[in-house]
Amino acid sequence: VERIVDIAVIGGGPAGLMAAGQAAGGGSVILLEGEERPGKKLLLTGKGRCNLSNTLPVEEFLRGFGPSGVFLRNGCHRFFTAELRSFLEGLGVETAIERGGRVYPAAGGAAAVLDALLAWIGSLGVRCLTGRRVVAATPDPAGGFLLSGEGFSQRARRLIIAAGGASYPQTGSRGDGCRLAAALGHRITPLHAALVPVRCLEPLCARLQGLRLRNVGIAARRSGAESLTGFGEVHFTPFGISGPAVFPLSAGIGEAAAAGPVSIEIDLKPGLDAARLDARLQREMGAGGGRPLARAMETLLPARLVPVFLDAARLDGTAPAARAGREARRTILGLLKGFPLTAVGTLPLEKGMVTAGGVDLREVHPATMASRLVPGLFFAGEVLDLDGDTGGYNLQAAFTTGFLAGRAAAGP
Ligand SMILES: Cc1cc2nc3c(=O)[nH]c(=O)nc-3n(C[C@H](O)[C@H](O)[C@H](O)COP(=O)(O)OP(=O)(O)OC[C@H]3O[C@@H](n4cnc5c(N)ncnc54)[C@H](O)[C@@H]3O)c2cc1C
Repeated sequence: VERIVDIAVIGGGPAGLMAAGQAAGGGSVILLEGEERPGKKLLLTGKGRCNLSNTLPVEEFLRGFGPSGVFLRNGCHRFFTAELRSFLEGLGVETAIERGGRVYPAAGGAAAVLDALLAWIGSLGVRCLTGRRVVAATPDPAGGFLLSGEGFSQRARRLIIAAGGASYPQTGSRGDGCRLAAALGHRITPLHAALVPVRCLEPLCARLQGLRLRNVGIAARRSGAESLTGFGEVHFTPFGISGPAVFPLSAGIGEAAAAGPVSIEIDLKPGLDAARLDARLQREMGAGGGRPLARAMETLLPARLVPVFLDAARLDGTAPAARAGREARRTILGLLKGFPLTAVGTLPLEKGMVTAGGVDLREVHPATMASRLVPGLFFAGEVLDLDGDTGGYNLQAAFTTGFLAGRAAAGP
């Protein structure tokens, strides 16, 4: 057993790195990372570009976490987008605001952020040990905590668990944080995938795989509950749909699909109401003399979608559009405003961009991330029962909670 340290951090993701650096003012700090290097998941974020945060006002940002968002309110008043940006700029990582208010490093992507964080904690004297997967964390009868794993043990006066969720296990996040917290007496809300592709019955998804529909509306109808709606990009995959408009609905679709198939409708023309769309259709179908229906539809839809769309409408794309008639137009209109798909579930937890569920927030103090059950224990990041939309929500939450946990663990 090694000499006792003041603060041990489990997990070298964004939450753990931030917590370790913030804790450094409070004594000796050790960071234990299970993988051979820290930050593997961080390097995947934003396809390597790292969507750090966004410029939404606090209240709107919090809504991106659903009902759990209020838990972050206190923290966001202390360390939010502006603070994160100036913190990173202090480490030499300039940030830039892109489309939709999304914040990214101006250059160097996720690797620049990870390198800067590692250099920062190193300069503060944090000992960062890799290949140290903690398998047990127990209260030490002599005070503090006793941590152990294969071939090592470590004592610490205070402990920050920042071991992430359980999705993308190849990055090192395998649900250990929740298991360690549970063994210390914490309640864990069930884990499931969030921000995850949705599986659909229709073989047409495979036919369309790779197609990205931009600016479409999506609605998932749940029996006995409000419809889930979204807007933006929908991507077709070999087994269903994915993409930014689908992700925020995915956890809800997954839950609803456990009870039976969920009807999905895609509004392919959300900018036009039915009357205006009908007028447009009449124009397109009447124009161009003997133009085939498929050509007319290409003025309204991506070319790859047209044959699939006309199959779904049971219409012959080679027939002249002008002769299609009112019944055909009504069918087309219906499909344009509500193209149907049937969701039967989501991909499994491992494939979620984030993990929903985790350490029950009722047992954690929102101003300090301190356990309400175990003195000296703190949590940060995705191990908590917090999951936000895509667009920088989850990294900002990891940094905010890491900041609070580190500062509080360093405190008196
Ligand atoms: C493909 C992908 C893209 C994403 N893109 C974005 C994005 O652009 N913007 C955004 O905001 N969010 C994004 N996310 C989500 C974001 O990456 C996570 O929410 C965030 O990394 C969580 O940070 P964390 O520090 O809590 O956990 P993690 O980043 O998961 O880090 C936890 C660390 O703990 C270590 N660990 C686990 N168990 C142990 C143990 N027993 N002992 C020691 N160490 C352990 C792990 O190896 C890991 O290094 C993305 C996620 C994925 C998968």
